[in-house]
Amino acid sequence: MDLTFTPEQDAWREEVRAFLDAELPPDKAFNTEFEEDDELWDFAIEFTRRLGKKGWIGLTWPEKYGGLGRPVVDRLILSEELERREAPVVNTIGWGLAAGALLAGGSDEQCRSWLPPIASMEVHVAEGLSEPGAGSDLAALSTVAKRDGDDWIVSGQKTYTTWGTRAEWLFTAARSDSDSSRHRGITMFMVPMNVEGVTLSPLWNLAGGRQNHTYLDDVRIPDEYRIGDIGQGWHLIMNAFYGGGIGAQHIYFERTLEELVDYCRKTVRGGAPMIEDPVVRQQLGELAILAEEQRVLAYEGLSNHNHQRPPRFAGALGVVVSKETRPVFSEICQEIMGPLSQLRPGRWAPLHGQIEALYRQSYANHAGGTSQVKRMVLATRGLGLPR
Ligand SMILES: Cc1cc2nc3c(=O)[nH]c(=O)nc-3n(C[C@H](O)[C@H](O)[C@H](O)COP(=O)(O)OP(=O)(O)OC[C@H]3O[C@@H](n4cnc5c(N)ncnc54)[C@H](O)[C@@H]3O)c2cc1C
Repeated sequence: MDLTFTPEQDAWREEVRAFLDAELPPDKAFNTEFEEDDELWDFAIEFTRRLGKKGWIGLTWPEKYGGLGRPVVDRLILSEELERREAPVVNTIGWGLAAGALLAGGSDEQCRSWLPPIASMEVHVAEGLSEPGAGSDLAALSTVAKRDGDDWIVSGQKTYTTWGTRAEWLFTAARSDSDSSRHRGITMFMVPMNVEGVTLSPLWNLAGGRQNHTYLDDVRIPDEYRIGDIGQGWHLIMNAFYGGGIGAQHIYFERTLEELVDYCRKTVRGGAPMIEDPVVRQQLGELAILAEEQRVLAYEGLSNHNHQRPPRFAGALGVVVSKETRPVFSEICQEIMGPLSQLRPGRWAPLHGQIEALYRQSYANHAGGTSQVKRMVLATRGLGLPR
């Protein structure tokens, strides 16, 4: 495992940085709940389209599907720089989960029809997997898809739909064969959000922002909106979730730590800069270890990919560590900063109020699957322990 980058990769990083310098106005902050603000949202859509125009959304996809065919390390570098600048990238479900599922098991025709518009941000996709009775146990889903001539009729309720009111399509799973075993007989579809039978109601999130309940009431869609083979939905979802994707969460921790160190240098407490306080220094050291762990795990994922090794622990280790690090990291930040860390963004909030947001978000570890469930994946699929 080599943790250094080549001169070409460094040049690519500089290219991304120059693009972000040119495109992201320094006076706009996207760190918390920007999707609730129409002006910021419109900016985010335009920014993501500009990324798409450069071919960077589908950076690693084959060229015939609207990608640039670049190596995964370039994707990691791009993600690192986007995260470092808190760039407002939207449609992450489209180019993450939906595109991942298409590349894992979509037909050539399906990939040609869906991937280029996702790569150019013409198609904005939300995720419709979870249901009131099927979250961690997704295979318990009860939304039904029935064949009707060349069409499908989809009925059921989805929940937690992020960006549901903003997206134009729902990438969803439905049971197409009720006689099959739980994990078979599930088929994936793209459902347009604006057709008859689709309605939404808000689900406000304590951690910030809005998710939605999505009701599918006898929604008629053509077979061309089916993704993958009939009955193969489970395989597509699992491949997209556990395919060894490499995230750049480590940059979030590194950036926060850098800002906190700067804050401790500039802030005087008890007559001396905080950075001179031995307890604070120890706590900052602790944060540095947590951040570094994330980076090493991300780079190990990259190394596995480059050497065509399957991800260790079924790809669940990095997710577990990242999700479980957040509350610990947030708590140490609060101990260092004291009560000011509880202020939301505004004049008096240090670090733009991001520690308060981190606190709220750190305990919401459900998105994409809880860490408890990822631990089970790690134990059973990763270590081969009995179920
Ligand atoms: C901010 C946010 C955004 C989301 N966005 C989307 C989205 O866009 N689209 C979408 O489809 N879904 C979305 N989700 C839903 C998310 O995928 C689910 O919340 C998640 O899968 C957990 O399901 P659940 O909430 O039903 O919890 P449950 O499955 O009911 O779990 C409740 C608790 O029990 C624990 N638990 C469950 N089973 C076990 C077990 N076998 N062993 C040990 N512990 C267990 C869990 O860890 C959890 O703590 C989002 C969730 C959040 C919080």
